[in-house]
Amino acid sequence: MESNLRRALVQNEFILHYQPLVNLETGLIIGVEALIRWLHPELGVIMPDRFIHVAEETGLINPIGDWVLCEACRQAQAWCDEGLPPVFMAVNVAPVQFRQSGFIEVVAGALATSGLEPGRLELELTERTVMHDADINMGTLSALHRMGVELSLDDFGTGYSSLAYLKRFPVGKLKIDRSFVNDLETDPDDWAIASTIVSMGRSLRMTVLAEGVEKPEQLTLLRKMGCDMAQGYLFSRPVSAEGMADMLRRQPFVSR
Ligand code: C2E
Ligand code: MG
Ligand code: MG
Ligand code: MG
Repeated sequence: MESNLRRALVQNEFILHYQPLVNLETGLIIGVEALIRWLHPELGVIMPDRFIHVAEETGLINPIGDWVLCEACRQAQAWCDEGLPPVFMAVNVAPVQFRQSGFIEVVAGALATSGLEPGRLELELTERTVMHDADINMGTLSALHRMGVELSLDDFGTGYSSLAYLKRFPVGKLKIDRSFVNDLETDPDDWAIASTIVSMGRSLRMTVLAEGVEKPEQLTLLRKMGCDMAQGYLFSRPVSAEGMADMLRRQPFVSR
């Protein structure tokens, strides 16, 4: 797997798919999450859950993650140059990648090369990433924040978060993990957890996004809770860059 991944990098076998992030007040796509896929010459499409952990264990996540950042920023700016409605680009960052020395320079480089405004890039970090050695991470998070880059906490609720750090970290968004959204309409406990995250996010002046929304009933409940944004198969599965451009083209122009 390791040597296969190395070859994949050299041979450009990775591609990004994109999934819309929807503003629940307007119903418009205001952001897009970049999700990596591996187009294996013999095996076909390999999903990230099957190779990201190997990339993390071998350190290959650094060059792969750097490529993702550059490609996502390039694509976001390319859509903008085509005159499509401006969206922010959300990029997943693995723990090892976040902690590599020079990560801030990698982000700055991706922005400079693409010409993307820092405020249009959002880095998705997990609780596991930021809460581990929280004091050390504070420096990196603050530096990214000073650059104008947005930060979000992915899979929120599945890890361990110190509320004290949540208050101090310059994180602007919580993404409610889809395990709480799956059975939102039937499981009162999931409803309680999701609505608690929404209230807490609000009180902390953070944006709250629900992941994995598949059913209209879930959307109705999330709207009632005051959840700001959503993502899920109900709106669209992750699609190619061309597919995403078509989706953006079909929606009314939103000026910022
Ligand atoms: P994630 O960051 O939480 O991304 C959301 C995942 O949920 C994506 O899976 C997406 O396709 C899936 N999803 C979205 N809506 C729905 C829905 O309504 N129902 C269901 N069942 N699933 C939905 P995907 O693309 O397979 O990615 C899985 C994970 O792999 C991501 O979870 C992220 O942790 C990781 N990943 C993906 N791309 C990258 C990357 O470029 N770098 C790093 N470090 N990790 C990545
Ligand atoms: Mg994510
Ligand atoms: Mg997630
Ligand atoms: Mg903020």
